[in-house]
Amino acid sequence: MVTARTALVTGGTGGIGSAIVERLLAEGHRVATNYRNEAKAQAWQAKMKEAGHDVLVVPGDVSDPEDSQRMVEQVSAELGPVEILVNNAGITQDTTFHKMSPEQWQSVINTNLGSVYNVTRPVIGPMREAGWGRVVQISSVNGQKGQYGQANYAAAKAGMHGFTISLAQESAKFGITVNTVSPGYVGTEMVMAVPEEVRAKITAQIPVGRLGYPAEIAYAVSFFLPDEAGWVTGANLAINGGHYMGW
Ligand code: NDP
Repeated sequence: MVTARTALVTGGTGGIGSAIVERLLAEGHRVATNYRNEAKAQAWQAKMKEAGHDVLVVPGDVSDPEDSQRMVEQVSAELGPVEILVNNAGITQDTTFHKMSPEQWQSVINTNLGSVYNVTRPVIGPMREAGWGRVVQISSVNGQKGQYGQANYAAAKAGMHGFTISLAQESAKFGITVNTVSPGYVGTEMVMAVPEEVRAKITAQIPVGRLGYPAEIAYAVSFFLPDEAGWVTGANLAINGGHYMGW
């Protein structure tokens, strides 16, 4: 039986985040997520309500340390201290490196990697005090293998796993596990924004022969959460249809 916990999934209004939120709710957890875009978040919350899902949705820009701290405080006040954190929010700003502006570099590093500091920092103290916690980073296959046009994104995503394996060492004795999920290409808005001919080339490189489904990533996240997974820490779970089989 799974113990009901308070979970914060950043970027829960997106493609993969929505599936993670739904999975955690189905497992009986109290789930919160955040938004930058209020109108989008309201529409998303209404859709979730229609489907019978009750999610706490709070404002919060994960690239901003103070806003992230405030967001965590709001979630903790309304649902109790965060026991499960899924660092999922992310963006792309693709271009080859010789054309990459400082803004394109910084926005991706701040949103995808800075966010991991900003949101994990306020939850880790209470997790240590409670003697239990789960932190899961949503990285990417491109953090493992690199990708043409994604020096900023791949650097941030590889950095997330460096964070995982360090925090895992510091947190193990407090009953906290820290792990990474590295998805391959999933058919969300982020990937559907890639030109169709590029997507066809990507799919041709995936042995399973298709893009992933968000629910398949949510399934991988949920593996790390129960007490039975207490001995799994510092892992990087690649889930990519066989696209990349390295570390
Ligand atoms: P989406 O674009 O569908 O969703 C991204 C989510 O992140 C949105 O809810 C967005 O909210 C939120 N977000 C972005 N920036 C911020 C910010 N500064 N503060 C708060 N929230 C923010 O992306 P996916 O669902 O496809 O991706 C989710 C994660 O999975 C990302 O980290 C991505 O890098 C990773 N990933 C995705 C893959 C894919 O194939 N789709 C493959 C490998 C990894 P808002 O709309 O309000 O900005």
